[in-house]
Amino acid sequence: MDFRNAILSNPIEYLKGVGPARGELLRKEAAIHTFRDLLYYYPFRYVDRTKVEKVISLHMQMDYVQIRGKITRMEVIGDKRAKRLVATLRDETGEISLVWFQGWQWVEKSLQTNVLYLVFGKVTVFNGYLQMSHPEMDLVTEETATGKQHLEPVYYTTEKLKARGLTAKAIGKLTKALLEQMSPGEIPENIPVSILQQYRLMDRAKAHFKIHLPANEEDANMARRRLKFEELFIAQIRICRLKIKRQLASHGFVFNSVGDAFTTFYNEHLPFSLTGAQKRVLKEIRQDTTTGRQMNRLIQGDVGSGKTMVALLTMLLAVDNSFQACLMAPTEILSQQHYKSIAGLLEHMPVKVALLTGNVKGKARKQILKETEEGTIQILIGTHALLENQVIFKNLGMAIVDEQHRFGVAQRARLWQKNTIPPHILVMTATPIPRTLAMTVYGDLDVSVIDELPPGRKPITTVHRTEFQRPQVMDFIKDEIRKGRQAYIVYPLIEDSETLDYENLMKGYEEVKAFFPEPQYYISMVHGRQPVDMKETNMQRFVNGDTQIMVATTVIEVGVNVPNASVMVIESTERFGLSQLHQLRGRVGRGAEQSFCILMTGNKVSADSKERIQVMVQTNDGFVISEKDMELRGPGDIEGTRQSGLIDLKLADIVEDRPILEAARASAEKILGEDPDLSMPENQSLQQFLAAQQGKSQWSKIS
Ligand code: ADP
Ligand code: MG
Repeated sequence: MDFRNAILSNPIEYLKGVGPARGELLRKEAAIHTFRDLLYYYPFRYVDRTKVEKVISLHMQMDYVQIRGKITRMEVIGDKRAKRLVATLRDETGEISLVWFQGWQWVEKSLQTNVLYLVFGKVTVFNGYLQMSHPEMDLVTEETATGKQHLEPVYYTTEKLKARGLTAKAIGKLTKALLEQMSPGEIPENIPVSILQQYRLMDRAKAHFKIHLPANEEDANMARRRLKFEELFIAQIRICRLKIKRQLASHGFVFNSVGDAFTTFYNEHLPFSLTGAQKRVLKEIRQDTTTGRQMNRLIQGDVGSGKTMVALLTMLLAVDNSFQACLMAPTEILSQQHYKSIAGLLEHMPVKVALLTGNVKGKARKQILKETEEGTIQILIGTHALLENQVIFKNLGMAIVDEQHRFGVAQRARLWQKNTIPPHILVMTATPIPRTLAMTVYGDLDVSVIDELPPGRKPITTVHRTEFQRPQVMDFIKDEIRKGRQAYIVYPLIEDSETLDYENLMKGYEEVKAFFPEPQYYISMVHGRQPVDMKETNMQRFVNGDTQIMVATTVIEVGVNVPNASVMVIESTERFGLSQLHQLRGRVGRGAEQSFCILMTGNKVSADSKERIQVMVQTNDGFVISEKDMELRGPGDIEGTRQSGLIDLKLADIVEDRPILEAARASAEKILGEDPDLSMPENQSLQQFLAAQQGKSQWSKIS
């Protein structure tokens, strides 16, 4: 058995019918470098080639269809820059235009008039007429006429590929040619037999043949199911092995004692009693840090669940054991806020805390770097400035990352190098991650959940309001301000460089000012284009209560804590993702008062936006929202999953294929539970497959 199959590793241009030019194009346009890549270039759908529509029966809701007819006319129209080829196809019921905008020179040369073509394409409307652009053209031969192969695979292709004759159809031909020169033995099985049997999975070689060349729908489905399972199973095996390896091999500092710092703080300075969930998570961390292995733990806790206090107590634990600790936050504002609240809480404690961000410069910076290296600073809080090489710790024992979805994996991995033995790592996220995603992206981490909010919180009331109701919304804010509360008004400004968004924000600010004139009202405005100190001043005025309204962009999304704020108005709600809305909403409801979240939209709202707004109105539960978010947008769009680089699935979809994922996870755990190093004979093929794959993907240390 050989997974480093020589044939499959051949460069793609060696395949008959490819050659250097097409090979280059396949590499660039479709990432097909080798025979193997082509084998894994699965069709995304199949068409039933036995079905042929009449031209007269075509309509624009039809999507892809097949028609049969003769070309009666061909002409090139349009001016120099926008030339196109228009061919008229006629069958016994009528005529339709076929249009090519690109590569038409080649098409014009190859098409013939007055012979029968089988035409496959998407029906669209142009100037009120139906047409097909860039359809696939096949001369009607005996094979196509009798429809020997019922299901024809359809492959993704691009205009550039098509211009070189590499249509979906042509790619299918290449794949078929490749499969014909391979024997099943060249695609050896990699899933242990017991699992194949348990889940009734098609064997590997057959699945590769059948996904490209299915005899019928059943075949295609079985092949897809098998290959999806394989993708997920191999990923889960890797993740679980990583976890086992880490647990066995990575030494960690032992925090023997709960000492003075922790105990004194806990007994004398803790401003409230911990929730049950906070206590449980602390216990889990305490356990991790006594084992002698490095902790690598993710805390998921909804906004406002009190993660900061858990972080602080964890850092005190490190301090008690003569280690330093650091807390890294994704933004300047957030790290300042952490610093202030933690320094405040530790005011009467002999623990030295410092703040290091990109904004701390000159002498102050030198001093902090010096004291960090000497070990006088026991807790260092900051932005990613903490990762810089000049930041040298005397003895870093605990690194905490807040709001981790803002940091890339590589950045986090750099924390590992801040001591001779990597420090314990605690990652805290307020974006609850759906279980399936957690299994895939964070599968090698231990996960704690803070699933309880501090007592006395009133659930936030969320409503949807449209432009018509703006005056009432403004009046409502006035009422709240009269009661002594504060309000946020948030505008979408996803990228700070988007000029249009910026103008909208400014317009909105002027509007708000008109409703809330000085000196009765004062407004803070915060956005990403401001200099940092201006941002900070404006923010601080709101925190102090000098301003009643904060007009802002999503810079306030994470972490900002102003318990007196009771209203969150979100403008152009349609533009935000669900998880983001939930984060923003989490800025209110932090005090004892009833809080409100008002989702503003235009008067007309799309069905899709309506659905998302309904989710927000109906639930305050971050986990429910994240599941829904993933369902509506797909996992690729959930913040943080893309940069994680771990989701590299061709066929499987962790939302749709959740049952397969669960089965794959269970199977991986079972196999590794019985045979952690995969040395048993029945796991040999799996072991060899993994070995052959080594180095092909970026499965490195993930914290
Ligand atoms: P998040 O998990 O979103 O980071 P924070 O740590 O900012 O939440 O906590 C939100 C608020 O709840 C803070 O004002 C904090 O002081 C308060 N808090 C945290 N834990 C408790 C608790 N056990 N009892 C009461 N209030 C708490
Ligand atoms: Mg927080």
